[in-house]
Amino acid sequence: MKRAFLFLTSLIVISAGIAFCAKSKEPKTMLYKVKNVSDVKELFPNSPKEIESATEHYIQTAQEAIDKIVAIPSEKRTFANTIKAFDDIEGLSDLALFAGIAEVLQYTCPNDAIRAAAHDALIKIQEFAVDALSNNVILYKAIKSYADNQAKNEQLSAEERYYLNKTMDDFKRSGLDLPVETLDEVKKLKKELASLQLDFETNVSSDNRTISVQASDLAGLSEDFLASLKKTEDGAFILGVDVPTFIMVMENCSVEQTRKALNAAHENRGYPANEKVLNSVIAKRDRMAKLLGFASFADYDLSNQMVESVDRAENFIAQLMEKAHVKEQQEFDEVITDLAPGVHLTDDGKLKIWDAAYAKNYFKKKHYNVDEQKVAEYFPMEKTVKGLLDIYQQFLSLTLKEVPVSGYWHEDVKLVETYDAKTNQLIGYLLLDLHPRPHKYTHACHIGVLPSTYAKDQMIPAVSVVVANFPKSTAHKPSLLKRKDVSTFFHEFGHALHALLGRTQIASLAGTQVKRDFVELPSQMLEEWLKDKEILKQVSSHYQTDEPMDDGLIERIVALNNFGSGAFLQSQLFYSLISLQFYKDGENKNCSQIYKDLYAQCKKNIAYDPEDHMYAAFGHLMGYGARYYGYMWSKVFALDMFDTIKKGGLLNPETGDKYVATVIGKGGSEDPNVLLHNFLGREPNQEAFLRDMGLNVQDDAAQAIVAQKIPQPVGAHI
Ligand SMILES: [Zn+2]
Repeated sequence: MKRAFLFLTSLIVISAGIAFCAKSKEPKTMLYKVKNVSDVKELFPNSPKEIESATEHYIQTAQEAIDKIVAIPSEKRTFANTIKAFDDIEGLSDLALFAGIAEVLQYTCPNDAIRAAAHDALIKIQEFAVDALSNNVILYKAIKSYADNQAKNEQLSAEERYYLNKTMDDFKRSGLDLPVETLDEVKKLKKELASLQLDFETNVSSDNRTISVQASDLAGLSEDFLASLKKTEDGAFILGVDVPTFIMVMENCSVEQTRKALNAAHENRGYPANEKVLNSVIAKRDRMAKLLGFASFADYDLSNQMVESVDRAENFIAQLMEKAHVKEQQEFDEVITDLAPGVHLTDDGKLKIWDAAYAKNYFKKKHYNVDEQKVAEYFPMEKTVKGLLDIYQQFLSLTLKEVPVSGYWHEDVKLVETYDAKTNQLIGYLLLDLHPRPHKYTHACHIGVLPSTYAKDQMIPAVSVVVANFPKSTAHKPSLLKRKDVSTFFHEFGHALHALLGRTQIASLAGTQVKRDFVELPSQMLEEWLKDKEILKQVSSHYQTDEPMDDGLIERIVALNNFGSGAFLQSQLFYSLISLQFYKDGENKNCSQIYKDLYAQCKKNIAYDPEDHMYAAFGHLMGYGARYYGYMWSKVFALDMFDTIKKGGLLNPETGDKYVATVIGKGGSEDPNVLLHNFLGREPNQEAFLRDMGLNVQDDAAQAIVAQKIPQPVGAHI
């Protein structure tokens, strides 16, 4: 007995020793570094040299981890040592995290050399990921060996089983079952594509073309706006192609020539360089899809999505397009009854593209009595952000605290700590980079850096970055957000909350790592909050008087909800068709011709402009591939869900809890069809979406397209 006791005691000592050793090694990986606010800053390197050496080092350690998985004798494979180990590389390794960090720097860092180094690092990481992970036959065989043998008997959670099935499917979609020569070609194509995609994005983000105009060319724009513009040496005003400047000018400048020139600059970002890049991407993606056994890249791209097939996506688009045309025609007929002075229709009765936003804004101001610039006075940025955070705090039971920080890639960067209000547990950090500057990504986006997951069963704080381009405060006035800006903020915050709250055991399934045609659901749903009278009252506060918007203005804004919804839907479906057509069968595509044909087919009341090459800056053609339809697809579900939430109260924390527990909290660990069904308690339908858009609801056929058969519970078989 005594001896046994001693033996036990010594075991405890030894294991404590091992635990201590393991702990002392932890800080070497990035994952364990983030324990408090100042650690977050340390994630971001400050020099190209640091980026280069980190990339080399992280690639090497990832390779060692892969070698370790491969070296395990096949009879000793377990979920932990094979599949979870693979997930650790994919989702938690320094290399995986550094990819997010490099992406942030590539899109935001003002320093040219750092941006270039981040760009090179991303290319290297993506090439490594193709060679060593997604197309590594030896690794695939190791994982397949586990899937074919031990996985059949090992007790796995539903999430683990889902991940195993997904991993095997991803390997098959990478062509790992193909003969070696074919696989080699796929690998080569993937690498070339990774580099081309980055080129495309960089050609857009680094395109800072401007036009310079005289004060008289800026009639209709406010003094404040003029004061915010940079000037040339000889005193001319410089207009950039960043989104706030572009929208402000297109909606308000009464000088046609200025709108025309800025529109041409904006619609030619990335052109002509990206025409060539795009043609190459299309040809290589087509070739790759065919090698993998699909009819086209679009077929390949949609086959593992909610929508499942190109046919189904096209049906979805066609049915909505019919309704969009009807609504858009009504809107057009209304707007042309009172055209802004100086705006004339073309000979065939259409609006010129550079007149469209101006004519609509003119009509809106006059007949709906809503002047967006006046409305913006109720949305000073600081207060609006606070109001928005308050909404999330209430609905999602969170505590969001802004903490003063400095020393990030730019002084504009702000940091918000996110806590679970019930347990006071830190959930993660949110970095906000919200103002435009040269060489910064010109749209809004969310980039995940640390996933919402666990490391060795320990909850680790997630880190996310929201990038946007809201106007900056001037000496006399705070930054005033337009409704569109506020809506964009709600949208990107929706992604960020999905990333922070979607905590899963499997890192590669955390947060926003869901099917692409589902990922825009949480973000688009949060946009809907802004259409509610009570919420508008809560987040608005006039920058001079602190008064919320009065009831009359709120009523007029709500009445405006459907103004332009037909044109909006038409545009979204137009972009969806572009992305499908570009990637349907065929290596050699005449992008400009397809664009022109689809324009004529979709935009019935806006004249086609041969100088318009919008597709050369259409970044979604890279990351979203053929899946742009996913925005409207997921919006249909978002509206269905919003409708249900609204019935329980938009600030009702119980509904918020249910939303987190059944939808966003699950990240990508379950089929989205199942998540939707679990939240709604029924199959989703299009009714709320059609009603919200002011479209005809009485059409069963249109609703049926979304109704899904709920798949079998996941996990029983591989
Ligand atoms: Zn989005």
